[in-house]
Amino acid sequence: MGRALIIGCGGVASVAIHKCCQNSDVFEEICIASRTVSKCDALKAKLEPTTKTKITTAKVNADSVNELIELINAYKPDVVLNLALPYQDLKIMDACLATKTHYVDTANYEPEDTAKFEYSWQWAYREKFEKAGITALLGSGFDPGVTGVFSAYAMKHHFDEINYIDILDCNGGDHGYPFATNFNPEINIREVSAKGSYWEKGKWVETEPMEIKRVYNFEGVGEKDMYLLHHEELESLALNIKGIERIRFFMTFGQSYLTHLKCLENVGMTSIEPIIYEGKEIIPLQFLKAVLPDPASLGERTRGKTNIGCIFIGKKDGKEKKYYLYNVCDHQECYREVGSQAISYTTGVPAMIGAMLVMTGVWNKAGVHNIEEFDPDPFMDALNKWGLPWKESFDPVLVD
Ligand code: NDP
Repeated sequence: MGRALIIGCGGVASVAIHKCCQNSDVFEEICIASRTVSKCDALKAKLEPTTKTKITTAKVNADSVNELIELINAYKPDVVLNLALPYQDLKIMDACLATKTHYVDTANYEPEDTAKFEYSWQWAYREKFEKAGITALLGSGFDPGVTGVFSAYAMKHHFDEINYIDILDCNGGDHGYPFATNFNPEINIREVSAKGSYWEKGKWVETEPMEIKRVYNFEGVGEKDMYLLHHEELESLALNIKGIERIRFFMTFGQSYLTHLKCLENVGMTSIEPIIYEGKEIIPLQFLKAVLPDPASLGERTRGKTNIGCIFIGKKDGKEKKYYLYNVCDHQECYREVGSQAISYTTGVPAMIGAMLVMTGVWNKAGVHNIEEFDPDPFMDALNKWGLPWKESFDPVLVD
C-alpha cells in the first residue's frame, strides 16, 4: 500500500520498525534513515529474513533540511515518521513541506539549548501544511498519543462533556540498575527535572518539580507513588476536549530513581549549560547520558508491567459519569516479541499505527493536527490488533 521513511533508529524506532515489518501489506517498503547508519543496517539484517516489507537504509543528519530534502526526493515516501529526537522536529517538518510529504512524530519540538517543550513552534506550521495539502500528525506515541486517542474515544462514545482528565503513567518495571532511564536519558531527565504544571479553569498552575505526590493502586502492578509533571498533551487536550476544567498528568517513580536524580541535580550533572572540561566544551547532561545504560539495552533485564491510561469525569445526559481507559503491558512479553522493553514498545506501536492511518488516507486532514482531532475508532481497533489492547472501567478509584 505504501512506502514510509523512518528517521531515527533508537529504542522507539526499533519497535516501530518491527511493527511495520509485521504489517507488510500496509508498509510494503520502508527506509530506515539515521545518523549512525550501522544501526539501521543491523536492524535491516535482523528483520529482512522475517518480513515481506522491502527495507532500505540511509545515512542522514536530520539537523540539515537540505540532506532531508535530498533523501525524501530520492526515496519518495508517502509518509515520514520522525523517531529521532524532539530537537529535529522543525527541520523534518520543513523538509516535508518542501517535498509535500505527510509527517508523523511522537514528541513535540524542544530547542536543544532550553529545556522547554510546547506546541507553539509546530502549531505555527498549520497554515503552511494546509496550503501544501499535507498532514502533520503530532504526538503519535503513548503519552502523548494513545492518551489523546483515549480522550477522543471517551468524548465520542461516553460523554457529552468531559470536565476532568487525570493521565496516569505507571512503569512497574524493574531493570535491576540503581538508576537508568527507559527512553533517551537526555530527553527523559529534561522532562522530569522541569517544574510541574496542570491546567485548571483556563490557566496553567505551576508546581515545583515532584511537589505533588499521590499513591495509586494500578492493575497488574500494585500500589505506586506517582508525581505530577508537566506533559505536552495537557496543552492540546485543554483546547480540543469540550468542557475541560482540569487536566493533570502523573508519572510513577521509585525512591531510588528520585534519590539519584536529586543527587545528580545537586552536583550539576543534569544541567544543559555548557561547561569547559579539559579545554573542550561539554554539556553535563549529555555527558551523563553517555555514562548511563542505553535504554535499548534494558529490555532483557526488565521485569514487570506498565499501566498507562486516563481517568475521565464528565457528564452524559445530564448525569455525572466516571470512565477509565488504560493499557497494561508486560516488559518481558515485549522483549520476547521485538527485543525491547515496554516503554519503547508502548511508544513504537502507536507510532506505526499513526503512520499507517496517515499513509493509507484513513486519517486525511491537511494541516498540523494533534491526535485527538482525528476519529479515534480506527486507532482504537488497531491498538487491539497490534499489541496494545485496552481495558475500560466505569467505576475507577479517583485521584484526589
Ligand atoms: P534514542 O536516543 O534511543 O533514539 C534516537 C534516534 O535518533 C537515534 O537513532 C539517533 O541516532 C537518532 N538521531 C538523533 N539525532 C539525529 C540527527 N540529528 N539526525 C539523524 N538521526 C538522529 O531515543 P528514543 O528512541 O528513546 O526516543 C525517540 C523519540 O521518541 C524521542 O523524541 C522521544 O521524546 C520520543 N518518545 C515519545 C514517547 C511518547 O509516549 N510519546 C515516549 C518515549 C519516547 P544515533 O544512533 O546516532 O544516536
